[in-house]
Amino acid sequence: MSANYAAGLSPYPDKGKCGLPENFDPPEELERKVLELAEMIRNARNVVFHTGAGISTSVGIPDFRGPNGVWTMEEKGLAPRFDTTFEEARPSTTHLALLALQRSGSLKYLVSQNVDGLHMRSGFPRDLLSELHGNMFVEECVKCGKQYVRDAVVGTMGLKPTGRLCDVPKSRGLRACRGKLRDTILDWEDSLPDRDLNRADEACSVCVFLCLCVCCRNADLAVTLGTSLQIKPSGNLPLLTKRNGGRLAIVNLQPTKHVSAFTHTLQPHTHTHCN
Ligand SMILES: [Zn+2]
Repeated sequence: MSANYAAGLSPYPDKGKCGLPENFDPPEELERKVLELAEMIRNARNVVFHTGAGISTSVGIPDFRGPNGVWTMEEKGLAPRFDTTFEEARPSTTHLALLALQRSGSLKYLVSQNVDGLHMRSGFPRDLLSELHGNMFVEECVKCGKQYVRDAVVGTMGLKPTGRLCDVPKSRGLRACRGKLRDTILDWEDSLPDRDLNRADEACSVCVFLCLCVCCRNADLAVTLGTSLQIKPSGNLPLLTKRNGGRLAIVNLQPTKHVSAFTHTLQPHTHTHCN
């Protein structure tokens, strides 16, 4: 299946600012910012990362609003370039670094707008991940909510029936649920999935009791990687951390929607995907 899932979505007039120039820091400036970010992570007790399409461009999947992004090219009347399919794409260095941070205890929760499934395929635990816009490899039962993770993309978009049925056995008896399965990819006007949004919302808010226990999932540092933060509500979630007294670091090649809103924002013009 073509990786151009965006072509399967409904037409939508307001796709935000597209094609802004990308900025690259000189090496010494980049190193300073990387060290500063590492120190912020080291000093935080609860870090939530937010990822967007920018972390998958290095493996051949175009972003949306970058110079060669899907919507940028659409504005020019051109087709985006895909160098891979979703099935063939492999997790980037960024995906693997996030996995390493989770395993070392530095990353408590991950919120992604990406539908490419690369976080899950990197081995990142699903119970610590919210995929706010869906996952091309996941279909779910409309009746019982059971999710199925497939080896190939499920074939539809926009929460449409995939043509398969749920085979979960009912609690008593041997008959299967038989509910219709649908994809999990949101179209423009679709609401975000409750489960993923609620957990992301919880993870991004600082605990009102300033709880210091390690199991508290409320963030005191939000780090965004490869997203212009233009899509709501996903792009506003990192603000919850900031508004509740936490810190925010934005890592993106283009300026983002929220960069001017914060006094302690770190915005390295860092190329986060370096493989
Ligand atoms: Zn079912």
